[in-house]
Amino acid sequence: MTDDSEAKWAEFKAAVKVRKPEKAKGQPPCYCDASPQTILRDLLGGTIPDEALVRDCCWTEICRVWGGNSDAADIEQWRELCKRRGHLLARQDRWGI
Ligand SMILES: [Zn+2]
Repeated sequence: MTDDSEAKWAEFKAAVKVRKPEKAKGQPPCYCDASPQTILRDLLGGTIPDEALVRDCCWTEICRVWGGNSDAADIEQWRELCKRRGHLLARQDRWGI
């Protein structure tokens, strides 16, 4: 790691500490309980699970990680992810679940 990326990482870590979305008590653990590093890795690797894309709590967390680290991630990857989410949500609506 260069000094520059160290600084970026510190900045990112500071950014993601700002706000953790509120979750209802008693909910089972879900994707957004993962560390920002894990979410970022999935974001960069394109391996965010479908269920995380359609859950509001997880999506909020994914957006937050993206927002804190948009320099490292590819905007095209992000667009793809948003598109995938749109498809999943549309499919959910059709199935009425
Ligand atoms: Zn969640």
